Amino acid sequence: MKPIKKICSRCILDDTIEGIEFDENGICNFCSIHNTLEMQYPLDDIGKDHLKKIVAQIKKDGRGKRYDCVVGVSGGRDSTYTLYMAVSLGLRPLAVHFDNGWNSETAVTNIHHATEKLDVDLFTVVADWEEFKDLQRSFLYASVPDADVPTDWAIYSVLFKLAAKEGLHYVIQGHSFRTEGTSPITWTYMDGRYIRSVQKQFGKRKITSFPIMGFWDLVTYIGIRRIKEIRLLEYVEYNKGTVDRLLSEKLGWTYYGGHHHESMYTRFFQSYYLPHKFGIDKRKLEYSAQVRSGQMSREEALEKMREPYEFDPGIVSYTITKLDLTQGEFETIMKLPKKSFLDYPTYYPYINLFRIPVKIACRFHLLPPILAEKYLKKDSAMKCLPGKNAS
Ligand SMILES: [Zn+2]
Repeated sequence: MKPIKKICSRCILDDTIEGIEFDENGICNFCSIHNTLEMQYPLDDIGKDHLKKIVAQIKKDGRGKRYDCVVGVSGGRDSTYTLYMAVSLGLRPLAVHFDNGWNSETAVTNIHHATEKLDVDLFTVVADWEEFKDLQRSFLYASVPDADVPTDWAIYSVLFKLAAKEGLHYVIQGHSFRTEGTSPITWTYMDGRYIRSVQKQFGKRKITSFPIMGFWDLVTYIGIRRIKEIRLLEYVEYNKGTVDRLLSEKLGWTYYGGHHHESMYTRFFQSYYLPHKFGIDKRKLEYSAQVRSGQMSREEALEKMREPYEFDPGIVSYTITKLDLTQGEFETIMKLPKKSFLDYPTYYPYINLFRIPVKIACRFHLLPPILAEKYLKKDSAMKCLPGKNAS
């Protein structure tokens, strides 16, 4: 593992992150992304007014329809609170859950409690387990730090598809830069071509049913069907402790321990695979985001990072068994040379090609968050990727 030589003077991100840059005050580029987002989503009256207008537009566009938006739910804090917020604002959401076979019992209970108490219809898409298992194994053999992206991309794919099917224009996602931060592109990258190319190289079966939205699907959803992604949490004060209490009181929601640990695979991935294989500890992102938004002091964050990542010793053998891997195969995976998305065919070169129009679109708020967040905000981290040729 690379030793830490420099830590941002505002958050706790350090120079072990490929592509991080520091300004003359020792502040990192991810802090500057946070500042940009703070300006785009202010918590003052302007922000409140913006949210009011968005909600009014969603209601107006949804008149005469069974629902006015789709909300992705995982049973975790962010998505449950997003659903609660949507209903409290008077929206009529269809809750959509993508079940990839790794749900913890707590997650399932949380989803049912929330949708029942909020009186919201729930639509669950269940992945074909044999197909998804093969895809997950492929991504482990691809030896990349974003081996969990097939699920994230599938969730997007399912939400957009359902919105289009129901004739809706709004996909509501539970993400907040104030608590989650922005993942470096070297840690997380996703697009449909990336997923298909990894499966083609390492998979034993063809993907026939797993939802993988391609580039033209996304263009159709955004450009022709005019579906927008809205992140309600970006418009409000979002304090995890307060939200946990509220969700528990109002919806009987239960915490599952660890960020995104509502999924057993994420639990394995973040607490074992990433730290052991890549030296990546995702708590750095979460704590840094909370430091920037004043929910945690920098000292407290640094102190918390000295504690080992909370780890359930049974999770590794659970994962090996569930993925039908032998101990030997798993050990081989852990020792494979480290790679990144740049080692596989993706749409990234095209995004690079259109960098200038994309930047302009982002500046004028024309770029949907799915593109802005996944590509452009990480742009500053890309330009100094050492020794890689993205095209
Ligand atoms: Zn920073």
